[in-house]
Amino acid sequence: MKIFNALVTNFNRIEFKIDNPSELNFYMLNIVNGRNYMKIIEHSISDNTVFLNLENEIDIKMDCLLIYGDIINIKCCYFKLFSSKEFNDRYYYDGKLGVEYTPQKSIFKLWAPSALNVKLLLYKNGDAALNDNPVHSIYLNEENGLWSTPIEGDLKNYYYTYQVVLYNEVNEVTDPYVKATGINGNRGAIIDISETNPENWDKDVSPSTINNFTDAVIYEISIRDISSNPNSNIKNTGKYLGLAEENTKTKNNLSTGLDYIKELGITHVQIMPIFDFSYKSIDEKMPSEYNWGYDPQNYNVPEGTYSTDPYDSKCRIRELKTLISALHKNNISVNVDVVFNHLWNEKENSFEKTFPGYYLRRNQDGTFSNGTGCGNDTASENLMMKKFIIDSVVYLSQEYHIDGFRFDLMGIHDIDAMNQIREAVDRLGRPIMLYGEGWNLNTNLLYEKKAIIQNSFKTPRIGYFNEIIRDSIRGSLFDANSKGFASGGENFENSIKLSSIGCINYSEWLKGPFNSPEQSINYVSCHDNAALYDKLKALNPDDSDGTLMERVKLSLGIILTSQGTAFLECGSEFGRTKNGIDNTYKSPDYINWIDWTLRDKRINCVYYIKNLINLRKNHSAFRFINSDDLKNHLEFINNSPKNSVGFILKNKPNGDSWNNLLIIYNANNHALNFPIPWGNWNVYVNKNSVGESNIRDVKNNYIVEGLSVNVLYN
Ligand code: CA
Repeated sequence: MKIFNALVTNFNRIEFKIDNPSELNFYMLNIVNGRNYMKIIEHSISDNTVFLNLENEIDIKMDCLLIYGDIINIKCCYFKLFSSKEFNDRYYYDGKLGVEYTPQKSIFKLWAPSALNVKLLLYKNGDAALNDNPVHSIYLNEENGLWSTPIEGDLKNYYYTYQVVLYNEVNEVTDPYVKATGINGNRGAIIDISETNPENWDKDVSPSTINNFTDAVIYEISIRDISSNPNSNIKNTGKYLGLAEENTKTKNNLSTGLDYIKELGITHVQIMPIFDFSYKSIDEKMPSEYNWGYDPQNYNVPEGTYSTDPYDSKCRIRELKTLISALHKNNISVNVDVVFNHLWNEKENSFEKTFPGYYLRRNQDGTFSNGTGCGNDTASENLMMKKFIIDSVVYLSQEYHIDGFRFDLMGIHDIDAMNQIREAVDRLGRPIMLYGEGWNLNTNLLYEKKAIIQNSFKTPRIGYFNEIIRDSIRGSLFDANSKGFASGGENFENSIKLSSIGCINYSEWLKGPFNSPEQSINYVSCHDNAALYDKLKALNPDDSDGTLMERVKLSLGIILTSQGTAFLECGSEFGRTKNGIDNTYKSPDYINWIDWTLRDKRINCVYYIKNLINLRKNHSAFRFINSDDLKNHLEFINNSPKNSVGFILKNKPNGDSWNNLLIIYNANNHALNFPIPWGNWNVYVNKNSVGESNIRDVKNNYIVEGLSVNVLYN
């Protein structure tokens, strides 16, 4: 007889599986919690599952063993109890966690319901690798799972950890709520955070470039890549301060770094992970390795590698704030890429070591749920994990003046968590963007609860990376040989039409997942997978460089003239290459860096994209919020030739200064004689230029050049 998968499902309930229920003799069955034999008052069997009711409650601070005669002795897992409503209602703590520092006293709070005791360890050094002894250690007091202690006196510049004793383990952990750390993030730092504020930080305000999220033009960058190539001529290469430098130029006298981003006219940068990632990925003492950093260690602390002195716990905070303030001054809002969906390791993290079985999602058999592919999915449905994410987003918005959050693998999170984050940031009174990757992953969460594209109607004002537009333009991500509209594929007219309207539910024959275009993050490439140029080249190996760049312009032109929020990967506008490598998360700098010499070489493409960005910003026609409004102001051109799409945004669409706009995409290599309705039109955008110099009248027919985006108006 085999007994397995024993779970504590409630404070006085246990269930387990058995291969042959008829052999079970209940007199031989014992539940032992710590030293207590628990009295079983009721039992039942259904199929191969046995249910037990106990007279008394189980003490979660002790192991709970299922013993059968002297042949079986297994541990009952607690994770099911920990995710129950009863548990969360009883132990949820609504207050502040972490350290509250003042020069007179500091208050320490840690939530650890299963801990037997918790000791605060104070150190003089921030480097855990020193293995030095703590200079003080103080026991915390518990009240219903919350451990806390006030300590009189000024603890500024001490470092701290907690020693948590649970079951048979003694864990030394970093406070999950830590706001500053020593080198490599293994010890918390007690600081006066106001000392990290750069000059005039209190006057730093977010640019008021957007009213609606569709007004944003997002540009994805990496702190390291933007300046790591020497041709950036940026002094602080690979650092926060590098991107804060102004007046940096290539030897051709063209701007790099911050000035370049500003000239391009984007409204928001989206910065790849800048909050502390694992020292196992990049050792802050010797940051020679390359890693994107999608392996979080401390969510509320900036990564040390990007600071000029990672040993100084205030330096990274001050320098990140300096960067944000420089971006804000240049009218650029700051979105950050946050990775709440998993931790860098399922065991070695401050959450699991503080309260094992709670923060990470489990499968029914007790193994870690792994929809992320990283071996551990966080459990946003558990109240204290949800609280942590909300607290973190609010803290980063307030302390760092962050303007938006891009949720890595958002589909791992539950809808309720995302909606509560939306409510929490809305209370801050400025337009904070929330969006992410809403892929449907194989995580142990009910389909209807996942924050995925298919459920986007349940999360208004939260955006989703739109895979329909991405794959329709460039070709499927998962099939190296499949082409899209701009890479030479056929029969993409309808999916491009759907994409151009932000994939809303338009009609029987054009049905998208979104309720409003503001939920559609329109992109054709990002840090993941092949660079746009590389993908186009792989699909069209015989194309000249010039033709490939025409495809780039067509691709980004569709993004910039479609409804939704436009998103561009840094360098895609000049055909950035990653040498055909699909996943460069730990490729060397020379693969990942921004090559400003290439940018100089293709400066004409850059100007074209820049002018399209400007057109988008100046014309509200491209930025509808309301789907019904959009439907009323939209007309597709039905007799358009093969591999071309045309549509009219009509009657002062969305309050535009132009009466009508006619947008035409031609994905054929050859020119087309395109039928145009409604009399006279002025050409504003054609294949090679954007702006006043093109303006001329056309009527009835318009020659649309091969591989081109066109915008006409009247
Ligand atoms: Ca780190």
